[in-house]
Amino acid sequence: TTNDSMESERSGDKLIGGLLTEDFDESSCLSRYHQSLLYRKASPYKPSEYLISKLRSYENLHKRCGPGTKPYKKATERLSHDEKYEDGECKYIVWIASYGLGNRILTIASVFLYALLTDRIVLVDQSKDMSDLFCEPFPGTTWLLPRDFPLLKQMDGYNMGYSRCYGTMLNNHAINANSTPPHLYLHILHDSRDEDKMFFCQKDQNLIDKVPWLIFKVNVYFVPSLWLNPTFHTELTKLFPQKEAVFHHLARYLFHPTNQVWGLITRYYNAHLSRADERLGIQIRVFSDRGGYYQHVMDQILSCTRRAKLLPEAATQEEAKANTSTRPIHKAVLVTSLYPEYSDTLKDMFWEKPTSTGEIIEVFQPSGERVQQTDKKLHDQKALAEMYLLSLTDNIVTSARSTFGYVAHSLGGLKPWLLYQPKDASAPDPPCVRSTSMDPCHLTPPSHGCEAEWGTNSGKVLPFVKHCEDRENDGLKLF
Ligand code: GDP
Repeated sequence: TTNDSMESERSGDKLIGGLLTEDFDESSCLSRYHQSLLYRKASPYKPSEYLISKLRSYENLHKRCGPGTKPYKKATERLSHDEKYEDGECKYIVWIASYGLGNRILTIASVFLYALLTDRIVLVDQSKDMSDLFCEPFPGTTWLLPRDFPLLKQMDGYNMGYSRCYGTMLNNHAINANSTPPHLYLHILHDSRDEDKMFFCQKDQNLIDKVPWLIFKVNVYFVPSLWLNPTFHTELTKLFPQKEAVFHHLARYLFHPTNQVWGLITRYYNAHLSRADERLGIQIRVFSDRGGYYQHVMDQILSCTRRAKLLPEAATQEEAKANTSTRPIHKAVLVTSLYPEYSDTLKDMFWEKPTSTGEIIEVFQPSGERVQQTDKKLHDQKALAEMYLLSLTDNIVTSARSTFGYVAHSLGGLKPWLLYQPKDASAPDPPCVRSTSMDPCHLTPPSHGCEAEWGTNSGKVLPFVKHCEDRENDGLKLF
């Protein structure tokens, strides 16, 4: 009947086209089923049937292998023995929290996709405030690494010097097909060596695949580089026929803000953004030792938003006289930054003079924390709320190489205007570029191929894995 189909359409929406499972209780995590219904426009990107079925089998695997189960107990006991992994046993990824929240969100999504491709389950380090930020993503189990995990105390200190670090083992010829260790440490950070990045190669994956526990410290979104591996490539193409939508789907599947953070988001949205005709997000990240307000950064933002016609200029006298509409367009501008001065300047500008288009521009900035305070609960919750609020805008301007900005635009399904990173304290010209893809950039990817292709430019191997627009001849991104 019509009623039934309307109902199924509505619940289809609530589950984001089948991306989410129905198996959760709504009230424990309001954001999970409410986001798409109440706050988001329908995404033009639909998850593939294959991705949906893969997620449902992952959920079953996680339930079977997760904390508190027999296989989990057995696997942790074997951590201290050098026994061989047997086929059919559970295999794990442990994700160590490091760096800022944007980095954390991008890297959880990366290891999760790697887990989907390799039949592992992901457990996240909860020593930081993970459970204050996110609801559990998998039904009937937990993704939090138990506090009595045997390697918990050492893990934080793992580094390239650690003898079980994959790159180090390669260097020392300490690993081969006949000697698989019970755990390996993968160091996928900005300072990774070529050896660490051999992780992405097919031959190395055959070896790594046999190790029951993989412990990851990551601060880069490494999804684009997985496509360079032919084994993964085939599977990835089936999972994500729309390549640039990888993070968009994974983020809406994995990251559901807790009720506390959802309160921050919805109160702010309803107070300041919901009634506007149009919403513009501007994310301003200043990567410099001193941080703070810089005139050249302000100039760059104004020049980008004017050229892109995202914000109007001040009206001339004639324009001001001509604009007498009784119902002018009302545009809300959401600025996020550690520094409040940028939005203060914008606010003054639009208060002091009328706009050339007659639009009414209202400028908001939720917080101005001045300094990064990762691992302070309310600070992180506000950071998450702001990334999320940005993702609810219609157009978005973000800062080059900021993972905070990457999360915001990709979660929202938005192709951002990327502000180039200023050099020598002057506004770059052009100030920004409209990205043609919404997926985040893999900063510091492998610059080499594997084996026979050693030395090839990894940005030129596949037509849809290219260098990032905000990184000159560097970074890898899906288009
Ligand atoms: P990235 O350093 O820009 O790649 O982003 P990260 O999120 O990894 O690290 C920056 C951290 O600084 C954030 O997680 C926040 O703790 C803080 N931060 C930076 N910009 C903002 C902002 O606009 N709003 C808020 N609330 N916090 C911010």
